[in-house]
Amino acid sequence: MTTMEERRQRLYRADAIVLKRRDHGEADRLLTVFSAQHGKLVLLAKGVRKTRSRKAGHVELFTYSTILIAKTRTWDLVTQAETVETYLGLRDDLSRTAQAYYVAELLDSFTQESDSNPPMFLLLRDTLNRLATVRDESLAIAVRFYELRLLGLAGYQPELFRCIECEDELQPVTNYYSTAGGGVLCPRHGEGQIGAEPLNLALFKTLRFMQTRDWDTVERLSLSPGLHTELERLLQATMVYHLERSLRSPVFIRTLREQMLAHQKPVA
Ligand SMILES: [Zn+2]
Repeated sequence: MTTMEERRQRLYRADAIVLKRRDHGEADRLLTVFSAQHGKLVLLAKGVRKTRSRKAGHVELFTYSTILIAKTRTWDLVTQAETVETYLGLRDDLSRTAQAYYVAELLDSFTQESDSNPPMFLLLRDTLNRLATVRDESLAIAVRFYELRLLGLAGYQPELFRCIECEDELQPVTNYYSTAGGGVLCPRHGEGQIGAEPLNLALFKTLRFMQTRDWDTVERLSLSPGLHTELERLLQATMVYHLERSLRSPVFIRTLREQMLAHQKPVA
């Protein structure tokens, strides 16, 4: 028999967003959630595929809920869930839904279980909110903003202000970008360096702007399609580099690589 006190100790609360879910057994689901308090968790939600389940609506994909969880020896159990936010705008627009999948998958790839990172939870929450509400024109830049911030919060913030070799302040000229080096090289140290590519000035300025300004300012950025593609390619190359080094998510890395290749094809 367990006392009330013992039962209380086995329960914990999490403000969490559902990143992923898969069916388990007859009527259950395994949920991958990202929580404010405990980082990423994998939880078992029993009976949620039954039509009469009261929990089901509160643990849908991309839903932000407050969840009461019971510790067990295998997967911790969802005992209660209460929706905080459903991000409705994500659900009836296919391109927004696709971006939400991407955002969730990226976070899943860059994190390990039970590694608490409250700013990352806020980034996820704010990004889903943006994807649900911004005007169509700002959708892509919201995703780029998320990628750059996520890199920073995962410990891979690209250095954009001082040369990663000599630490001199970088000037508004053509510098060089090195994914392996973790940032920008001045012309003196970047030229001829293996793995360093010339970084055009407009892209350099855009990256610095996005890294230092808040979303309300970045949202007003209007990038030419060419510049946006370059930005996307640079961020993807940086993410692929770090994900491969940490041996995470081979399938997802392949998808990212295919996207990068598609961007390099000449426009017909
Ligand atoms: Zn230098």
